[in-house]
Amino acid sequence: MKNSGNDPAVKPVAERKQLRHYVDGAFVGSEVTFSNINPVDGTLIAEVCEANASTVDQAVRAAQAALKGPWGRLSVQERAAVLHKVADGILARFEEFVEAEVADTGRPVHQARTLDIARAIANFRTFADLAKTANTDLFEMATADGAGALNYTVRKPLGVIGVISPWNLPLLLFTWKVAPALACGNTVVAKPSEESPSSATLLAEVMHDAGVPPGVFNLIHGFGKDSAGEFLTRHPGISALTFTGESKTGSTIMKSVADGVKEVSFELGGKNAAVVFADTDFDAAVAGVLRSAFTNSGQVCLCSERVYVQRPIFDKFVAALKAGTERLKIGYPHDDGVDIGPLISHGHRDKVLSYYKLAVEEGATVVTGGGVPSFGDARDAGAYVQPTIWTGLTDSARCVTEEIFGPVCHIAPFDNEEEVIARVNDSVYGLACAVWTTNLSRAHRVSRQIHVGLVWVNTWYLRDLRTPFGGVKLSGLGREGGRYSLDFYSDVANICIKL
Ligand code: NAD
Repeated sequence: MKNSGNDPAVKPVAERKQLRHYVDGAFVGSEVTFSNINPVDGTLIAEVCEANASTVDQAVRAAQAALKGPWGRLSVQERAAVLHKVADGILARFEEFVEAEVADTGRPVHQARTLDIARAIANFRTFADLAKTANTDLFEMATADGAGALNYTVRKPLGVIGVISPWNLPLLLFTWKVAPALACGNTVVAKPSEESPSSATLLAEVMHDAGVPPGVFNLIHGFGKDSAGEFLTRHPGISALTFTGESKTGSTIMKSVADGVKEVSFELGGKNAAVVFADTDFDAAVAGVLRSAFTNSGQVCLCSERVYVQRPIFDKFVAALKAGTERLKIGYPHDDGVDIGPLISHGHRDKVLSYYKLAVEEGATVVTGGGVPSFGDARDAGAYVQPTIWTGLTDSARCVTEEIFGPVCHIAPFDNEEEVIARVNDSVYGLACAVWTTNLSRAHRVSRQIHVGLVWVNTWYLRDLRTPFGGVKLSGLGREGGRYSLDFYSDVANICIKL
C-alpha cells in the first residue's frame, strides 16, 4: 500500500513512526512511503520510505567509494573485529530486535528469541571467524627446467554486493548474506522485504554504532518491480547479486543482471518432502513432521509440504499427526506456549486459502483445518489460517506440486524405497528432504539418491553454518555457508610463481 507524500488522508510524516534508508552512513527519507502492517491484528506499525532510482544510485555509489576507503584497507582481522562488534550490538539490543521481528511477522516471541535473532548474531560471529581463519590452496608444480613453480590462490573482495531478501525469516536471512559479504571485504547495498523492514533498520543503527564506516553497509527499502529491488538489480555498479525469495523472482532477477553478466547466488522456493519409513521411531517422526510442516506457520522454505508415509504405519501416522496438529496453540505472539502465529499478510493468506479451496476441488480429504480460525477479538482482523492436513490427492495435483508456503501438508502412502525416491524426485523443486528411519544403511542409500541440496535424517532444520546450503532445479543456484560463502563473496584468483 503506497502513500504519496501529498495525500491529505495520511498523517504528516513527523507524526508517524517512519523507517528510513541508511545510505553512506546517514539515515535518509523519501517522499513516497508505504505502510508496514502488523499481521496479528491489521494495525499500522510504521510508514516505510520507498527508495527511488536516485536513492539506490546514491547507495551503490557510496558502496563503491567505501571499497576504496577504510573498509578496503582493513586487515581481515580488523574487519572481523568490527563484525563481532555488530554481533555484540545486536545482543545489547536483543529484545528490541525480537519485538521488531514479532511486530512485522506475528511469529511467537520464543521463536524470534531462539531462532531469528540468535541466528543473526551467529551469522556475524561465524562468518567473521571463518574469514579470519580461512586457508587457500597451494599447488607445487614441476617444470621442464627442474626449478618448478608455485600456484597459490587468493580471495579478494568482489566489489559491491546487492542483497535482496524475503520476509519469512527476515533478520536471519538478511544477515546470512550481509555478514559473509562484509567479512570478505565487500561493501553492500541491501533491501529487506517490504513486508518486514523493521529489524533490518535496527541493524543499520547497530552497524552505525559499531563503527562500520560510511558506505560499507547501505540499506534501501521498497518493493521489487519498478521499485528499489529492480533498481538495484539493474544498477551497473553492483558486482554480484545474492537473493532469497520466490523462484519466479529469481528468474526475473537473472534476466535483469544478464546483460552485465553479474554473479548470482539464488536461494529459491521448494516443495519439500518428508519420508517416513515403517521402521522409524514413530513418536520422533510424528514430532519431527509436526515441526517441519508447521514451524513459522509453514513459512520456511525448508518446510515439508509433501509427506510420504510407508503403508503399514500410514493410518496410525495420519491419526497421530492430526492429534498433534489439533493440539497446536494458535495465538498472539506473546501468549504462553503459542505455536502458530498469523501468515505474513492478508495478501499471502488469500493465496494460501485459494489452495485450501483448490485442494477440495482436486479431491482432497481434509484431515484437519482447512479454514480460518475465529477468535472473537482483535486477531480476527489478522492474517491467521488453520494448520491443515490433506490426504487423498494424486501426485500430479497442484496442491502436491506447487509451493503453498503455509501451515499445510499432504500425506500420501508409499510401499517401497525405489518408488518413494522416484516420487520425491518428481518435482520441479529440489531444496530439502527429511528422511525418518532407524535403518542406517537405508538412511545413507536413500539420502544420496534424493535430488535436493539438503537431506536431514531423523531431524529437520538442524543447521551447522559451516555446511553448504542451497537447492537444485527451481530451488536455487549456487551454494552458501562456510567456505562456499567465502568463495561466492570473493574474487578467487590464482598467482603462479615460477621459481
Ligand atoms: P519474493 O520473491 O516475492 O520477494 C523476495 C524479495 O525480492 C523481496 O525483498 C522483494 O521485494 C524482492 N523482489 C520481488 N520482485 C523483485 C524484482 N522484480 N526485482 C528485484 N527484487 C524483487 O519472495 P517472498 O514472498 O518474500 O518470500 C517467500 C519465498 O522465498 C518462497 O518461495 C520461499 O520458498 C523462498 N525462500 C527460499 C529460501 C531458501 O533458502 N531457498 C529461504 C527463504 C525463503
